[in-house]
Amino acid sequence: MTTDDTNTKPVRDDFTPSTKAKLALRANYRCSYTGCGIATSGPSDEGAERSISIGEAAHITAAAPGGERYDPEMTPAQRKHISNGIWMCKIHARLVDVDASAYPVTKLHNMKIEHEARIKLEMTGLRPGPKVFDFIAIGPSVVFVGELVAIEQKIWSFRVEHFVIGDLTELITYIEQFDAIDSYDKFVLVNELGDGRELSNAPSWAKSGDNCLISVPITASVPKIDVNRLPMDLALGDDHDLLFVNGGIARVSGLDALPQKIKTCLSMSQGESWFAPSFGTRIREYTVDFFGSPWLPRLIKLEVIRMAAIPYSDSLGISPPVPPLRCVRIVKAIDQIDSKGQDGWFKFRFQLDIEGLGEWTSEIPIFISRDL
Ligand SMILES: [Zn+2]
Repeated sequence: MTTDDTNTKPVRDDFTPSTKAKLALRANYRCSYTGCGIATSGPSDEGAERSISIGEAAHITAAAPGGERYDPEMTPAQRKHISNGIWMCKIHARLVDVDASAYPVTKLHNMKIEHEARIKLEMTGLRPGPKVFDFIAIGPSVVFVGELVAIEQKIWSFRVEHFVIGDLTELITYIEQFDAIDSYDKFVLVNELGDGRELSNAPSWAKSGDNCLISVPITASVPKIDVNRLPMDLALGDDHDLLFVNGGIARVSGLDALPQKIKTCLSMSQGESWFAPSFGTRIREYTVDFFGSPWLPRLIKLEVIRMAAIPYSDSLGISPPVPPLRCVRIVKAIDQIDSKGQDGWFKFRFQLDIEGLGEWTSEIPIFISRDL
């Protein structure tokens, strides 16, 4: 007995390898999604001849019945034609499918046309590289890619490109319940500025055409302390344990104490400390969905900004609230250096602007537990 496969499995009109390669080349191997533009291929840590790719030739109208934006009127040849493809990073390829109603065929065609036009202008030197929008966080549950449109003394305003964590409904809930929210969760963090603020009042939002605009009322920035005045601390060795020198526990202070201060502060996960459950970072939580992606360092940058700019007061309220990394003025850049790690410690490069010192770069390991 023979079975006819075509009766059970829909035929997919996939792109040929040659069509995929042409799409990638035309897009300069960068994501075509408006505002993304991320490089989708690059060197791998696995070896000098290895590379990694996070790009996809996405179908504008689906390759098979049941897929998003499937058009039964099209012939198989039209479905697998280059004109039906758009080059995107994996995150955006998925986004345009799971939220298909927000991305109709014409919108995707326009994104592709605009992206290719931009690449053409860059190649002829008529225009600099793309402006890549970075992450903005409002409170603990909303992170979006967006553009800073205005900075006033008491209000920062943004245009939302798209949400990365949470959505507009989540933001509206945050606004409605603002008065009841723990004051430690009332913050805005902006990667582009390398800085953040506490909120003085609930954010507000408005739709303007296709755009969502958000304004946040902010408090004044917290005074920083000179790094040279960092108090004496027990020194930690390369094994992340107490360092003994000449039979005694070594101590560090000032600038020497800064790397381990950053290391211990960022390695502590929120919820880990029994007596200070709200203290700590969300880095471990972020690694669940984002480990190995270019978005992890951007999310970690948000957390470093939070530790540098948002005052924390312990639950007993004994000491006045201060940010744990109070000598950090601006978080300039965070890059992940190794992806393999050593016993859960992963190296990152920190480029910071430090009070009393100026620009400072250091490679510091962070402990990220990957078992959940
Ligand atoms: Zn993308």
